[in-house]
Amino acid sequence: MIRINEHYRKLKSSYLFSDIAKRVAAFQGAHPETEVIKLGIGDVTLPLPPACLEAFHRAVDDMGREETFRGYGPEQGYPFLREKIAEHDFTARGAAIDASEVFISDGAKCDTGNFQELFADDIRVAIPDPVYPVYLDTNVMAGRTGEAEAGRYAGITYLPSTAENGFIPELPAEPVDLIYLCFPNNPTGATIDRDRLKLWVDYARANQALILFDAAYEVFIRDDTLPHSIFEIEGAREVAVEFRSLSKTAGFTGTRCAFTVVPKECTAYTADGEPISVHALWHRRHTTKFNGVSYPVQRAAAAIFTEAGRVQVKERIDYYLANAAIIRQAVKDLGYSCVGGVNSPYIWVDGKADSWAFFDLLLNRAGVVCTPGAGFGPCGEGYIRISAFNSRRNVEHAMERMTRALGG
Ligand code: PLP
Repeated sequence: MIRINEHYRKLKSSYLFSDIAKRVAAFQGAHPETEVIKLGIGDVTLPLPPACLEAFHRAVDDMGREETFRGYGPEQGYPFLREKIAEHDFTARGAAIDASEVFISDGAKCDTGNFQELFADDIRVAIPDPVYPVYLDTNVMAGRTGEAEAGRYAGITYLPSTAENGFIPELPAEPVDLIYLCFPNNPTGATIDRDRLKLWVDYARANQALILFDAAYEVFIRDDTLPHSIFEIEGAREVAVEFRSLSKTAGFTGTRCAFTVVPKECTAYTADGEPISVHALWHRRHTTKFNGVSYPVQRAAAAIFTEAGRVQVKERIDYYLANAAIIRQAVKDLGYSCVGGVNSPYIWVDGKADSWAFFDLLLNRAGVVCTPGAGFGPCGEGYIRISAFNSRRNVEHAMERMTRALGG
């Protein structure tokens, strides 16, 4: 008899985006004349930077000629891309990373989801609340939790991110082994400064723990005092892994390219306390279960490091950040407090009401779709997330409608 992994049955069905879709469809049915503006899902709207597109086209042509055709590439990625990433994204910022420590992949979703499988079943895992759901669900699938009750799985150490702590979780009261952090944060848009990040690195060093640092939104950081990488923090190489993505950086959500940085010093332990290289484990896992990102996609990705590519990426991020500033202003003018939208594409609004009630209000009165904060965890209750990923016209219209509907 073929039996299932029973842990999958513990997963709470993610009704969030299907619930949103249902409510939007119902509204649209009743108001066919209203153009619904979607500021819910975090997907980019601007096309690929021309520099990437040109490199993409050239590489596709390479695939059509025998002399330049490429078959299987290195599973970890081509040196031409790994070297550029190490040089521009890390070493140039004072975080020395070698190209051999960069693993190219087809998404930060897969990497943040898969990384936990290197570790024992009975480790203690710390996960922020609210959170990008992949970290939690993949640990549930792996059997590291009990059943869920009131939105919380038994066995997980939750790290609340609330207005009281400025949306930066406090160090856990109980010892933990694996820690997920995400900055700039999805969904709150909060950022972390060097001192606060150093507290986490020091904690991990003192407790032989490991930090999985998701920096998928790093490119939105414009405040020079903020760290772009956890490896800018002294001592992080032994205790941290960092995930990056080109999805939001350069519009690759549909093209797919990301990377994970695992320093050679990064260490985990056997049951007897023998130190083991996490780089070696991830290398083994990656080369066994993954066969590399396609050559044209890696060529397109490498183009973000050309002079033209850098300018075009900056223009795109400027555009979304200007959208975010419009949203922040409108929200504040309406008397709501919010975080994010600066150094981040997400604005986390204290709706002073039930998340879903506020969602319905915005949809029904303004024809604007946001994401109810409760969908990201119990600490998200009372909040909504508004995304800056849309056209300027749509963002402006959405904020005008919201101001008319909720103002006065
Ligand atoms: N990490 C965070 C925090 C995200 O918000 C997202 C996408 O929304 C991802 C990772 C996934 O990125 P990718 O498109 O590279 O899979």
